[in-house]
Amino acid sequence: MRLFKKRPYISIQKSTSQNGPSVPDGMFEKCPNCKESVYVKALGQERVCPNCHYAFRIRAQERLALTIDPMSFKEWDEMTQPKNPLDFPDYEEKIRNVQISTGLREAVLTGQATFKGVDAAIGIMDSHFIMGSMGQAVGEKITRLFEKATEQSLPVVLFTASGGARMQEGIFSLMQMAKTSAAIKNHSKKGLFYLTVLTDPTTGGVTASFAMLGDIILAEPGALVGFAGKRVIEQTIKASLPEDFQMAETVLRNGFIDQIVERENLRAVISQLLDMHVDPDRSNKEGYDE
Ligand SMILES: [Zn+2]
Repeated sequence: MRLFKKRPYISIQKSTSQNGPSVPDGMFEKCPNCKESVYVKALGQERVCPNCHYAFRIRAQERLALTIDPMSFKEWDEMTQPKNPLDFPDYEEKIRNVQISTGLREAVLTGQATFKGVDAAIGIMDSHFIMGSMGQAVGEKITRLFEKATEQSLPVVLFTASGGARMQEGIFSLMQMAKTSAAIKNHSKKGLFYLTVLTDPTTGGVTASFAMLGDIILAEPGALVGFAGKRVIEQTIKASLPEDFQMAETVLRNGFIDQIVERENLRAVISQLLDMHVDPDRSNKEGYDE
């Protein structure tokens, strides 16, 4: 019998990677734009690549914290959530899971907030919620956002992020394009200002409707902005497309975007644009002169 068993104090695991020493999970992230591995802490609170300034995809709640005046957000239509109009298999379960993982009821968060003291209606789409796809409830929330903004004479700031229409809702999803566009038209007829900020990715039915209807259209660096996917177009036209096809920078050169704004400057640019376009009586900029 062995009285003293040899016990190891620590176990050293051999790296299974062929590419050098292993690194704890989550310390580095690969930038989807420049493909460099970036130290997560170097991304900062804004989550911007220090190498190429690509603005990483962030959650709606993070966007709120970065953009508006603290504690100024009042949510609208928080109970609106997706239904399953076509009885699509497993759709309800998928929604429940993604609601838990994102803390959102739908792929867009809407409400009212102030930007350096200026009141505005705000909508933020979140690509973590079924790729920010547009279903009935997303269309409904965006339509109501514009209707309320029209009623209250507020400008609208909308951050778009979408893979397009929500496949599980078929034709109901496509109908949201016309519905949201009509609400935007009424808002515009009242002479109210609408600002869109295209974030990565803004594609499909969202690009073909409210994303491109802004009076001023901004985009974040490196954002994918397009309608149909690059591969689909290549297969259709039987030709290969350039590497920078559908990059915000290319779309800007072709005249569809007014300006690309780095995430760290967005709050200042948005509040300045709002201030230039709203009734001075509605602006309460004291204390926000930085
Ligand atoms: Zn990068």
